[in-house]
Amino acid sequence: MRTPPSSDIPWPTVEAVAEQVRACTLCGLADGRTTAVPGEGSAASGFMFIGEGPGFHEDVQGRPFVGRAGALLDELLAGVPLRREDVFITNVVKCRPPDNRDPQAAEVAACWPYLEAQIALVRPRVIVPLGRHSLVRFFPDARISGDHGRILNWREYVVCPLYHPAAALRSQNVRATLEADMRRLPQAMIAALGQAAAPVAEARPAHGPRREQGSSEPPSPSRGDDQGQLDLF
Ligand code: URA
Ligand code: SF4
Repeated sequence: MRTPPSSDIPWPTVEAVAEQVRACTLCGLADGRTTAVPGEGSAASGFMFIGEGPGFHEDVQGRPFVGRAGALLDELLAGVPLRREDVFITNVVKCRPPDNRDPQAAEVAACWPYLEAQIALVRPRVIVPLGRHSLVRFFPDARISGDHGRILNWREYVVCPLYHPAAALRSQNVRATLEADMRRLPQAMIAALGQAAAPVAEARPAHGPRREQGSSEPPSPSRGDDQGQLDLF
């Protein structure tokens, strides 16, 4: 077993987070939304994909990545291969910014506890930030142009940032890079499973803050469903 979810997560389940998100008015984005988009999927594959924020179609349907960028994400997942229902997909902000503008710092900060709780409850092996806005949540100084496709550590998670699918819809070069980076996801999972089996001192972050020592139990040998996670490829 890895460390259990901390008891200071304010919600007991992913669905409880979603209910809170649907009723949330903590930032100004609540005013313009049709429906909040909490995120969906499962922890079966051990991957969690995190986009920027809902667009037009997501705002109408209340589901993440259901527009054109979502269609591309589905295609890319199928190529790994991963099934959409086996990954968890969410966004940095859960409500659509007007005219798809970038989320503002205050909006991102207001929404962060939901994402943090989702991570703690879903407990992915590998976090996949899609695009710059998601990447800088984990590594404030990182650049998507230089850090896409790298295998990094954040807290006890492996993080593999990718270009945002919407950027790939605008540029063939970005699309080719994104396709190549997607093919590194099995390697990111293998790194995550290897770390789970290693003593904490060997789990050295390649980038960003070091794992906090003493705040949680050391990871113990890999859990029984690891093989299942590899079998998904
Ligand atoms: N772009 C995002 O970042 N998230 C979505 O859910 C859809 C498009
Ligand atoms: Fe609440 Fe996040 Fe929506 Fe802002 S974007 S209203 S913090 S759920």
